Amino acid sequence: MGIVSVEQMLLKAYNNGYAVGQFNINNLEWTKAVLQTAQELNSPVILGVSEGAAKYMTGYKVVTAMVKAMVDSLKITVPVALHLDHGTYEGSFAAIEAGFSSIMFDGSHYPIQENIEKTKELVALTKKLGLSIEAEVGAIGGEEDGVIGGGEVADPNECKMIADLGVTILAAGIGNIHGKYPENWKGLNFDVLQEVNNITKGVPLVLHGGTGIPSDMIKKAISMGVSKINVNTECQLVFAEATRKYIEAGKDLQGKGFDPRKLLAPGVEAIKQSVRDKMTLFGSVNQA
Ligand SMILES: [Zn+2]
Repeated sequence: MGIVSVEQMLLKAYNNGYAVGQFNINNLEWTKAVLQTAQELNSPVILGVSEGAAKYMTGYKVVTAMVKAMVDSLKITVPVALHLDHGTYEGSFAAIEAGFSSIMFDGSHYPIQENIEKTKELVALTKKLGLSIEAEVGAIGGEEDGVIGGGEVADPNECKMIADLGVTILAAGIGNIHGKYPENWKGLNFDVLQEVNNITKGVPLVLHGGTGIPSDMIKKAISMGVSKINVNTECQLVFAEATRKYIEAGKDLQGKGFDPRKLLAPGVEAIKQSVRDKMTLFGSVNQA
């Protein structure tokens, strides 16, 4: 079925009380692991691509071509969205041009009026093309591709202003952070989440920084309108750990253990297990 926008899959999730995972991809192995797991669990899936990851893979066009061809060659039948993660204004146009089915325009660092103007322009373009668009209000903490966010809590009234522009989905900072959570993290701000969900009723919400948020908080957030949860760091951590174990056990020195297809296999299996665990926690299994 090729790649689709996130609109239908996330409205269904929003109305039925589960969330769809966005798993960020970095290369062929990552993409294959996420797609195969989604198919195995009969779950919809969103492949997230940051501008840095797109650059690493030599460009948006390469990413689009790889994902489309892989969906075809692996006979993937579950809904798959190819989504630009934390897109700049310029990056959003480039990803659309290259054939992405969904974009996030992160205008959270602009003054609210400028965020509104730019979001409005991109909403019009994505609507015309049948694509989906995620907007962000209240910078999300931690680091994402060199952009450091302060971990602000979104102003519900600003969320309403952005939601009213017709965005498909809305990311609101509620104390969530990219990367690993510090020991003294205060947890998600559910009061603000509830207010945002009340005031933007009907617009699926997005939770960034899904690595390390306790399961009970994830479930509570889903019950309050969160329909898309972004997972990035966790897959990187388990991939690195499994690869390190393989090397430390000296397996690359045994037989043809240096073959990249063998060397990368434990890391790929670890990503698959992480994706399985998240899809099960988010409730998207058998919702394709
Ligand atoms: Zn994010």
